[in-house]
Amino acid sequence: MGVNIGQLRDWLKSYDRDSITIGVVASHSSLQILHGARMEGFRTLGIAVGDNRRRFYSAFPGAEPDEWLMLDNYREMLGHAEWFRQRNVIIIPHGSLVEYLGTTNFRNLEVPTFGNRGILHWESSRERQRKWLEEGGCLMPKVIDDPHEIDGPVIVKYAGAKGGEGYFIARDYRDFKRNVNLDEDFTIQEYVLGCRYYMHFFFDPTATDGFQVQGRGSHAGKNLGRLELMSMDRRDESNVDEFYKLGSLRDLREMNLEPSFVVTGNMPVVIRESLLPRAFEMAEGTVAASYELEEGSRGMIGPFCLETIVSDRLEFRVFEISARIVAGSNPFIGGSPYSDINEEFMSTGRRIARSIRKALISDKLDQILS
Ligand code: ATP
Repeated sequence: MGVNIGQLRDWLKSYDRDSITIGVVASHSSLQILHGARMEGFRTLGIAVGDNRRRFYSAFPGAEPDEWLMLDNYREMLGHAEWFRQRNVIIIPHGSLVEYLGTTNFRNLEVPTFGNRGILHWESSRERQRKWLEEGGCLMPKVIDDPHEIDGPVIVKYAGAKGGEGYFIARDYRDFKRNVNLDEDFTIQEYVLGCRYYMHFFFDPTATDGFQVQGRGSHAGKNLGRLELMSMDRRDESNVDEFYKLGSLRDLREMNLEPSFVVTGNMPVVIRESLLPRAFEMAEGTVAASYELEEGSRGMIGPFCLETIVSDRLEFRVFEISARIVAGSNPFIGGSPYSDINEEFMSTGRRIARSIRKALISDKLDQILS
């Protein structure tokens, strides 16, 4: 299932290399992607449902798409595959696109797409993610299989929840029972106390310079490509981030209030410089492991985010990976303290466009698309 490399190459044969259009669903990190595409000299296409969405973009002329595709439902994108290909469109996926289309539809969308869609299979299940990240050398929060064994703070996560919706914290079995919705699949994780850092990396398999990821297993001895750190954020989560203002957890429970983890915004951060080598080690391991996930895996391509918590012992726990551009990179449309060191005004969105531009020149488009 999904698009194979032969199909991709067939589509690309008919693409006019001088009129590539960067297409994106108008949401999530689209301002950044559209702005970055324009900076790299590409035509742009916005895909949206509802006229309000389109009007809103006129507030940002620097990112306003050159063309719009207005739909009644995002799933109509599937039926527009030929339309996209006739316009030489490369779709840049983000979290909202995958959510709106559903993972199966996204994998079957017959349009060249930036990054490796095959990685979604690994990213979309908590168990598979854990296997991948642990093989990459990341330490993850412990999982508690039996709720009776909760003997310290845990976070209960529902499958498929987006942006932390519905998650809750429990200190013991009683707390768990009081809040859990047994109709849904959930995972119980040790609650890791520490500061959160969402680290935005970019992996370019076509680059032979810079920090080269060393292959492992069947790729041992090979340089796989260049790893870059683009930026870092921390999320604003409502209401847990403001909860402390109302008193202790006990006071709040007496008022029938429970902390929630719904993402409402993002803030730029940097991490202690002495933690950066470990951050790179984890990211390198994760990229190297992505090539070993299954036979013939094309591995990680482009932006990905390691979502981490650093304890007061300066140890990282990685609680999730997002294998595409994350909305946490939005504070850095004008560059970040990390990306500025290499080139100013290089957002992740622009880095994606740059990578397409370079691949067009070196005739390696099929190495970064799927
Ligand atoms: P998204 O897919 O948007 O990244 P999600 O719904 O998968 O979000 P998570 O990122 O897993 O949710 O977690 C949501 C929030 O819960 C995190 O940002 C973090 O604040 C908190 N969190 C998650 N896991 C843990 C943990 N093990 N210990 C402490 N806090 C955690």
